[in-house]
Amino acid sequence: MPTLLVCSGTDDLQSLRVALAQAAALVMPDLQVRLWPEAVDPHDVLAVAAWHPPAGVLNRLPQLQLIASIGAGVEHVLRVPDLPAQVAISRIVDSQQARGMAEFVLWATLHYHRQMDQVLRQHAQRVWRMPAQRAASECRVGIMGLGVMGEQAARCLRDNGFAVSGWSRSKHSIAGVDTYAGAGELPAFLAPLDVVVCLLPLTASTLGICNTAFFQMLKPGAALVNAGRGEHVVTDDLLAALDSGHLRGAVLDTFAQEPLPPEDPLWNHPGILITPHMASAASETEIARQIVDNVARLRSGKAALHTIDRERRY
Ligand code: NDP
Repeated sequence: MPTLLVCSGTDDLQSLRVALAQAAALVMPDLQVRLWPEAVDPHDVLAVAAWHPPAGVLNRLPQLQLIASIGAGVEHVLRVPDLPAQVAISRIVDSQQARGMAEFVLWATLHYHRQMDQVLRQHAQRVWRMPAQRAASECRVGIMGLGVMGEQAARCLRDNGFAVSGWSRSKHSIAGVDTYAGAGELPAFLAPLDVVVCLLPLTASTLGICNTAFFQMLKPGAALVNAGRGEHVVTDDLLAALDSGHLRGAVLDTFAQEPLPPEDPLWNHPGILITPHMASAASETEIARQIVDNVARLRSGKAALHTIDRERRY
């Protein structure tokens, strides 16, 4: 019986399995949805809905045609040591999720622009002091990554009056946004920013990109928002940039280890605001709809949607 296997080595995906079964019942009643490590006939599995899949699962499925990341990122699939070579890898691309990300980026920008970091410190000490106010147009925000998430965030900030810059691998053109491309233009992109927002995919070129050299390219008093992946930020370099006073603060949403362990020093740093990988998620209904749609496409001989380029790694 054709099977969609739901597989995570880290999270309980029982409720997603139910959503996938409901979506499949509407369009492909013969597709059975199983949750790893339930027993399945390996020859029946056409697709895997994956979140941090463990080694030793994907390469034992001889009919596998699709590995569907249940999130926007795919680095958790690409790091599987025995990843089958020829199988398509897809991700979730959801306009509602992009709108949610834009909200998060707008909130984090306002946190610094309206000086809520200072106000929260004052609150803790019962200090009544009005912070200075500036126009949004005087605050320049830079978005690293102008993909599905980054472009929506850039447009949202622009529409709220901020001065916006964007940086990507290839050159983009977005009305009202100053765009930069490639490693060569990174210093010019970073130099004028008040807030820099990382919305990059995690690849060999972006791993550890927020390091000491990066922070030094920012002007003193700039702030960092990371909603990409935790591994984009070199933690010791971030702490040093904060402790020296060069960096004003950081909102961190993603971490190399999640949940962030209680003993992690990031929790205690006064310049860091931690959010629990909440910047934006697609709904389970939408994730299930997209994955089931892709399985249906494959079974009717069409290519899956939202597949990644294995060479680029995103
Ligand atoms: P996309 O693939 O749509 O966009 C990626 C962007 O990054 C592109 O603009 C790409 O440039 C740019 N990029 C990639 N590599 C480089 C590089 N070496 N130098 C400069 N720019 C580069 O991804 P999404 O926008 O959908 O998502 C981005 C990431 O955000 C995800 O991979 C995930 O890690 C994270 N995310 C986090 C969430 C959260 O809740 N915290 C929620 C959703 C996503 P180009 O356009 O030229 O190819």
